[in-house]
Amino acid sequence: MSSDKVLLPANVEPIRYEVKLSPDLEKFTYDGDEKVEISIKEATKTVVMHAKELSFWSCRCKHAGGESEAVEIQVNIKETTVTFVFSEELKVGDAVLEIVFGGLLNNQMAGFYRSGYDDIHGNRKIMASTQFESLDARRAFPCWDEPARKCVFGVTLVVPSELTAFSNMPELSCNSLPGGKLKELKFMDSPKMSSYLVAFCVGEFDFVQEMTEHGVLVRVYTPPGKGVHGDFALKCACKSLDLYDDFFGVPYPLPKLDMVAIPEFAMGAMENWGLVTYREVDVLIDPVKASSQQRQRVCTVVTHELAHQWFGNLVTMDWWDDLWLNEGFASWTENMAADALFPEWKMWEQYSVDHAAAALRLDALRSSHPIQVPIKHAEEVEEVFDAISYCKGSYVVRMAHAVLGRENFQKGLVAYMKKHQYSNTVTADLWAAWEESSGMPIGEMMKSWTEQMGYPVLKVVGSSFSGGKATIELEQKWFLSDGSEVKADEAKLWCVPILTATSSGVGDEIHMMREDKMKIVVDMGGNDGGFVKLNAEQQVPMRVCYDEEMVKRLVVGIKGKLMSASDRAGVLADAYALVKAGMMEPGQLIRLLKAYEEEDDATVWEALEGVLGGLNKATAENDLINGGVKKIGREIIGKLVAKVGWDAREEDGHLDKLLRGTMVRLLSVFCYDEEGVKKEAEWRFAKFLEDAADMQALPSDMRSPVFKIVLKNGGDKAFADVKGYFDTATDNAEKKHVLNSIGSAPSLKNKLEVVEWTTSGAVKLQDFFYAIGSVHRSSKEGMELTWNFYKDNFDRLKDMLGKASASLMDALIVYSCGGFCSNEKADEIEKFFKENPLPQNQRKLMQTLEAMRANAVFLGLLEKSELGESSFWRGL
Ligand SMILES: [Zn+2]
Repeated sequence: MSSDKVLLPANVEPIRYEVKLSPDLEKFTYDGDEKVEISIKEATKTVVMHAKELSFWSCRCKHAGGESEAVEIQVNIKETTVTFVFSEELKVGDAVLEIVFGGLLNNQMAGFYRSGYDDIHGNRKIMASTQFESLDARRAFPCWDEPARKCVFGVTLVVPSELTAFSNMPELSCNSLPGGKLKELKFMDSPKMSSYLVAFCVGEFDFVQEMTEHGVLVRVYTPPGKGVHGDFALKCACKSLDLYDDFFGVPYPLPKLDMVAIPEFAMGAMENWGLVTYREVDVLIDPVKASSQQRQRVCTVVTHELAHQWFGNLVTMDWWDDLWLNEGFASWTENMAADALFPEWKMWEQYSVDHAAAALRLDALRSSHPIQVPIKHAEEVEEVFDAISYCKGSYVVRMAHAVLGRENFQKGLVAYMKKHQYSNTVTADLWAAWEESSGMPIGEMMKSWTEQMGYPVLKVVGSSFSGGKATIELEQKWFLSDGSEVKADEAKLWCVPILTATSSGVGDEIHMMREDKMKIVVDMGGNDGGFVKLNAEQQVPMRVCYDEEMVKRLVVGIKGKLMSASDRAGVLADAYALVKAGMMEPGQLIRLLKAYEEEDDATVWEALEGVLGGLNKATAENDLINGGVKKIGREIIGKLVAKVGWDAREEDGHLDKLLRGTMVRLLSVFCYDEEGVKKEAEWRFAKFLEDAADMQALPSDMRSPVFKIVLKNGGDKAFADVKGYFDTATDNAEKKHVLNSIGSAPSLKNKLEVVEWTTSGAVKLQDFFYAIGSVHRSSKEGMELTWNFYKDNFDRLKDMLGKASASLMDALIVYSCGGFCSNEKADEIEKFFKENPLPQNQRKLMQTLEAMRANAVFLGLLEKSELGESSFWRGL
C-alpha cells in the first residue's frame, strides 16, 4: 500500500546521536554540535539527512578509509534535506559524522521553539521547548527523521546557570562553564527510539514529584508559583503508569517521567518518551477553581500520553500510514485508564457520545479516509491527525475488545509489546497477536473496518416476536450522512459483530454478519413484549435503522430507563443521523425526543444537547420549524432544570456537575431570554464580578454558559465586564471561558471587536480561534461576520499562522467558515479556496464543505416533511 513512500536513501543508517545545543534566549538562536554514529552500507560520496531552517558550518566524517571533510553542503528547502558531499568515497563500515550547525528558536510552536509568558510578578519571560511530531526534529538538528530509523539519543544542553533544563532521560552530569554564567547539562543515553520523540526544555519551573509504586520518579513541572496546580496530573500519572506496567506486561522502561506545562503549545500534549509536554490547560488544575470537565480533560490527556509510552514510543508504527496504531490505541487506553482511576465517571458511557459521535460524524462523509491511510510524502500525515485516527481508531479497538473479551485482548497486547519492543510494526502485526491469543480470525473482521473508509448502517427489514424470541432480518449498507445514493460499484461490506441488549441486559451471543443480508434470532429472556436494542452499548461504529415495531418497543425501554445510558443515547444519536440521511421521518424523531422527557443522565443529555442543538442550528432560517424545535427544547430542558436546579448540592458527584453544566449550556441557547433564567445568570454574574474566586455562586462548569446568557441580554457593559476578565484571570482555563463565550454579545460592533482583538496578538496563537468560534456560533450574523473577516484578512491570517502546525489553520477554517446550511454558501467558500489554495488544509476543507452541503439537504428534508406544517406542531 505504501511501497512508493518517499524515504531517505538506505545506504547510510544512523545508530546513535550525540546532540549538543546551546540556545541563546535573548537572540532566539542556538548553536548545534552533533556527532552521529552511522553504519555505511554501501560506499558513497554523499550522505543525505533531514534538515529544515538550519544553517551548516561544517561536516566531517571519520570512516574506515580515514577522515573526510564535506566539500559541499547542499540544502534542499523543498524536500527539507541536507546533502553532505565528500570528495572521496566513504568506505563501508562504521563511521562517525561530525556536524556543526545553527538554528533559530522560532515562535511557531514547532521544532525547538520559544514561548513567552508573564511570571507571577508580571515580568515577561521566555522559555524554550520542543515539538517534533511529526516532521520537526529536523527543524532542531539534522537527522534521519523517519519513525522506523530508531536510534539512541544522547542530548547535551548549554544553558544559563540559573535556568532549569531537562530532556527525555535523567541528567548524567552538570558542569559550570568558565565565566560562571553558563552550565553544560549532559543527559543519559535514551533507549532506541524514533526521532519525533526526542524532547528538551529550558526555563524557570516549579515542580511537584512522587514515586510510583513500581519505582518510577514522576514530576510535573509548572510555571513558578503554580506547583500545586500539578498535583492532580501527578496523581493521575502515577496511578496510570503502574496500571500500564501491569496491563501491557512490560514495565515502563525509563527511570523517570517528567510532564511539563508549556505556555505556548499547538496541540493538546505530546508524548515524548520520558518528557511529556502539555498545553497548560491540559495538565494544570487549580484545586479551587477547576471544573469537573477540566479534571476529566486533564486526566484523559495524561492517561492518553502515558499510554503512548508503550503504544507509540516502545512499539512504533513503521510509517505514518499506520498512525492510528499510535493514536487510536492511546485514545482507547485513555478511557480504559480513566475508567479504572475514576469508575464513577462512567467513561465508557461518555465515550459513546464524545469519541464515538466524532468518529461517526466525520466518517459518514465521502471526503473521509480509511483508518489505514496511504501516505506517500511524510507531510501528508499532518492531515490525518483527525477524528478518524483518534476516534474511529479507538472505536475499532473497542469493537475488538468486545469481540475478543478482556482476557484475550490483553493477552494479545502483552505478546505484541514483548515481541516488538524497541522496534516498529504494521497493523497486521496487531491482528496476528490477537489471532494467536484468541484463536479467532479477528484480522478478517478488523480489516474491513480499517482498510476501507466509512461504516455501515444496519437496516431492520423485518421483525417478529414470539416464544420468548425475536427474529430480526437485517441488511447492511454504506452509511452516508447526506443520504446520497451508493452506486453498485461503490458498494462495501463490513464484517459486523452484532451485539444485542434486551430488558434482561446485554446478551452473550455475538452474531457475525459477513454478507449484505442476515437473519438473527435474539433470546428475549422470556419477555415477548420487551425491546431488542442492536449494537448493545454502542460498541461497534455503525448506525442502526429500526422498523416501526422495534422503535415502539425501544421507546418503552427508554422511558422506563430499562436500557443503559449508552444505549439510550445511541438510539437518539442514530435516529438524528438517519433523519439527516433521509432514512427516517423527521416527525418520528420529534416524537422520539418526547421519550426523553424524564431523562436525567449526564451522558444521555449530552446526546440530547447534540440533537436539539443540531436541529436548532439547521432550522435557524425557518421560523415555523425553528419555533417548534425551540418549544420542544424548552419543555424538555425545563423538566431537567426542575430536577437538577442551579445550585450545587452537597451530594453532587462528577457526573451531576457535568449535567448541570450541560443544562446551563442548553439554557444559554434555548432559554436565555426567559425572565427566570436571566435573573439567575445575572445575580450569579454580579457575585462573580465582586469576587472571581467565588465558586459557590458561579462554579467553573457554568461559567461559559452564564457569560453567554449575560452577554446575550446585556450591552456594552456586560461585554466589557466579560472581556475584562480575560485580562485579570491568571489561569488559562479561566481565560478560555471568556474566549468561548465572548462572541455571544449581540451587537455587530462587539462581535467585530472580538475578531479584531483575538487576531491582534492579545490572545495566544494557540487559542485565538476559540473567540472567532464563539462569534461564529452566536448567530447567523456572527457566521457571516467571521466568514467575511476570514476572506478580508486572509493574507494577514495566513501570515500570522505562518509555518505553525496546519492544525491551527484547520481550526480557523472550521471556526470561521464551517457550519453553514446552504449550497450557495458552500459554492462561494469553495470558490474562494480555489482562488486562494491551502494545500495542507485541503482535506479539512473538503470535509467542511461536504458537511455544509449535507446540512442543506437536511434543511430541505425538514421543510418538505410534516414539520413544515403548523398542524404538526399544534398536535404535539
Ligand atoms: Zn496521541
